[in-house]
Amino acid sequence: MNKPATPNSFRTGPDEQGMFGIFGGRFVAETLMPLILDLERHWNEVKDDPDFKAELTDLSTHYAGRPSKLYFAEGLTRHLREVSSAKGLGGGAKVYFKREDLNHTGSHKINNCLGQILLAKRMGKKRIIAETGAGQHGVASATVAARFGFPCVVYMGATDVARQSPNVFRMKLLGAEVRPVTAGHGTLKDAMNEALRDWVTNVEDTYYLIGTAAGPHPYPELVRDFQSVIGTEARAQILEQEGRLPDTIIACVGGGSNAIGLFHPFLDDKEVRIIGIEAGGRGLDGIEHCASMNAGAPGVLHGNRTYLLQNADGQIIDGHSISAGLDYPGVGPEHSWLRDSGRVDYVPVLDDEALEAFQLTTRVEGIIPALESAHAIAHAVKIVPAMDKDQIVIVNLSGRGDKDVHTVANMLGMEI
Ligand SMILES: *Cc1c(COP(=O)(O)O)cnc(C)c1O
Repeated sequence: MNKPATPNSFRTGPDEQGMFGIFGGRFVAETLMPLILDLERHWNEVKDDPDFKAELTDLSTHYAGRPSKLYFAEGLTRHLREVSSAKGLGGGAKVYFKREDLNHTGSHKINNCLGQILLAKRMGKKRIIAETGAGQHGVASATVAARFGFPCVVYMGATDVARQSPNVFRMKLLGAEVRPVTAGHGTLKDAMNEALRDWVTNVEDTYYLIGTAAGPHPYPELVRDFQSVIGTEARAQILEQEGRLPDTIIACVGGGSNAIGLFHPFLDDKEVRIIGIEAGGRGLDGIEHCASMNAGAPGVLHGNRTYLLQNADGQIIDGHSISAGLDYPGVGPEHSWLRDSGRVDYVPVLDDEALEAFQLTTRVEGIIPALESAHAIAHAVKIVPAMDKDQIVIVNLSGRGDKDVHTVANMLGMEI
């Protein structure tokens, strides 16, 4: 693959067609096109509107709990300095966590859901649909729908409904209707198709709330902009707390929304190294992983062109990860472009490595991280001991791990 020319800024995309280089776009049925264009028009109207911003800031502050803290992870830093000394390196950078786990509902997902439900309200739409795999985005969508008094339908693969019963129950408590999808393998990809179908059928009153920085244009852009509050805050906070920018920032990549949210405000800071962590699952040789950028190929899914897990015939493969939130067969198109342009490195981390970082963080920090976030921490654990003591690493702690205790107990061969 030819490396695209380095642009003057990495922060100006996408173009008018919704393209990030050769990625992105809007590959949708003709019947969907008017809806997408209508959404784009409204998005362009509100994105710089001070009233819209003020309303979002107010909700982010008083409902979601923003700004989230930038926390010096002293226990983990100390531990990694000991590791560094034991290896005779005598280094170990300072590690900071951006605490998205402290948000209402326990992750970064609320940032996007609040932004999009305000957009839906502006558009005069009164019915919310969403799709969910593990159920975390379904819960966040049901949460904001409850807050605004909108009916909410969540499409979820039948296989996922069966294996994520606590989240299904949460959505129902919040007043949402969960519709199991039996087509295909009954997983996320099938739920996405069903949600798109619902949207075309119910054009008049329905808003489709996409949960990650993927989907047809303008979704990757608007989700990124709603999540960029993470990086904007982190950049200001590290300047305030350390008087300088970090050397390295790290985030896990499922569809890529928490990662692009942290990365985007730093993309033009050339001295900041940026690393996205994909789910390496049980290793990249087989198909039991979700590393679409390290082991996939470009193709079209969910209305955009991007790196995807696919077999030789171009069929999408359901990946595997210990963490349900990284179990998305593709990645948002902007990440594909950042990968090919070389601005961001994308690295896989295995299930076992994430599990170890999960336990380590819990013990040395008294913070139970989401298994997704534990992937990002695991990479910090690998690189920090070889860094200098005056260097700084920020890891995005995308969510809290209370939801993962059953999975972890299972992996450790214990019963709760
Ligand atoms: C959903 C989720 C992810 C993965 O989604 P992205 O769009 O890649 O951010 C990561 N961490 C947590 C805690 C999640 O809930």
